[in-house]
Amino acid sequence: MRFGIFSDVHANLEALQTVLKALRAEGVSHFVCCGDAVGYGPDPRACIQVLRELRCPIVAGNHEYGLVGRTPLDQFNRAARETILWTRRQLNADERLFLEELPLSERLEPLFVVHATPSNPVAWEYMFTVREADEEMRGVSSAVCVVGHTHYPFVVEKAPHQPSRLVQDPVFRIDPASRYVINAGSTGQPRDGDPRACCLLLDLNKGEGRFLRLEYDIRSVQQKIAAAGLPEFLAVRLASGR
Ligand code: ZN
Repeated sequence: MRFGIFSDVHANLEALQTVLKALRAEGVSHFVCCGDAVGYGPDPRACIQVLRELRCPIVAGNHEYGLVGRTPLDQFNRAARETILWTRRQLNADERLFLEELPLSERLEPLFVVHATPSNPVAWEYMFTVREADEEMRGVSSAVCVVGHTHYPFVVEKAPHQPSRLVQDPVFRIDPASRYVINAGSTGQPRDGDPRACCLLLDLNKGEGRFLRLEYDIRSVQQKIAAAGLPEFLAVRLASGR
């Protein structure tokens, strides 16, 4: 099975289309989205439409929870809050219902999919360190836990009788005896210093994972952010990848 995994699209249609095209070209048979389909970006409706047509498992992110009123907006920074309010005004009832019905996690053996952390998905905690990933892994029975939320791609491997370690290579081996926490990075708003759209290809037959980084038309997204009257900072950060 070839999984195409992406996260944190944040209503960036150009990045989403670029990622899906590349994953299809890689022969992906199963798509998975780790949440935050909307928020920050100017194309929530079009992104929801693309995701619905994809009919793939999608978990809810904090931006979906904020949008439907389950996570209080005072837990978001100002730019996030503003775009959540703006996004609410764009969506029709059906689109909103689609977001409301997203589950917090999905078990797709051998994958466990959640936006933030498996131990407490609605706390929206950030998992940045090997130690945090190691602790989270203990509560998950699936071999591979895939997450998003930090907008920072990373892989932590726990091999039998070994301490958990950070895997640094963009192409890495998936050992059937090991367990993993993998952050798919962000498609629509990378923050690791590389502005290219990020997604993850997991080939479980081959036992290989690979991050793809893809150029897309950032200019047009920035223009749409400006035209929608969304905070300028959101356009600026797309170009810097921070
Ligand atoms: Zn996000």
